[in-house]
Amino acid sequence: MRLCRYNDDELGLVLGDQLFDATAALESLPPLTWPIPHGDHLIANLDALRPAIEHAAGDSHPVPVGSVVLKSPVANPSKIIGAPVNYHKHMEEARADAEINLGRDIKTIDTYGLFMKANSSLVGPGEGVALRFDDRRNDHEVELAVIIGEGGSDIAEADAMGHICAYSIGLDMTVRGTEDRSLRKGIDTYSVLGPWLVTADEIDDPGHLDFEIRVNDEVRQKSNTEHLIFDIPRLIAYASSFMTLYPGDVIMTGTPEGVGPVVPGDTMHAWIDQVGEMSVPVRAHK
Ligand code: MN
Repeated sequence: MRLCRYNDDELGLVLGDQLFDATAALESLPPLTWPIPHGDHLIANLDALRPAIEHAAGDSHPVPVGSVVLKSPVANPSKIIGAPVNYHKHMEEARADAEINLGRDIKTIDTYGLFMKANSSLVGPGEGVALRFDDRRNDHEVELAVIIGEGGSDIAEADAMGHICAYSIGLDMTVRGTEDRSLRKGIDTYSVLGPWLVTADEIDDPGHLDFEIRVNDEVRQKSNTEHLIFDIPRLIAYASSFMTLYPGDVIMTGTPEGVGPVVPGDTMHAWIDQVGEMSVPVRAHK
């Protein structure tokens, strides 16, 4: 099942290039009272809601998916987790590029662990990226994004795949500099998720997915998730050894070689096999 959030927070079921309005299914969500639980309410109830989504979509007339404004398919993650230097060739390019390493010795995820991106940085492709600090280099990073379904703490690697609800394309936008990653990657609009979520049952093997990103018409990054240093089960096990994962938590699994700058006016076009593709416009914050 491919689900998107679009326009005025409507819910869409995507079939091919057509979008079916399934917003009526949201009326079947259980009511919430304060304090609301951690996590995304739709993702937490997605399995139970599937029949209502299919019913609502069946009653609607489709529109081209290209005719709507796509927002992040996860509205309220309790956290967005990033994986630093999780591809060896990205480590090599970071070591060779002084504008990335700024004099620091670059190591891999084995040394750094994970980092957090601010939840308020999350947007969908239709909202675009608004660059800040135009005197500094702002880079794209395309990544497979994992969306947690069933939460948990101390999840074993052997059980980790059962905790995944869905996959999306993630862009871990970054301003280069000396500040902590959580700040440089936590800027408003610097986490893009889209174009929709694809439930885990539709992905044959997330550990072997081709993906790429073009900026305007130039291919910048092109790799396969088989080159991850910490693979998906290890990322989930490792993250949950520190913190409880909740439904809707997003793990951006890391970026391969080829990161590079974008400037206002550029269009990023990202694609992941079996997940989809999305165009994301870049503008200036002000
Ligand atoms: Mn990244």
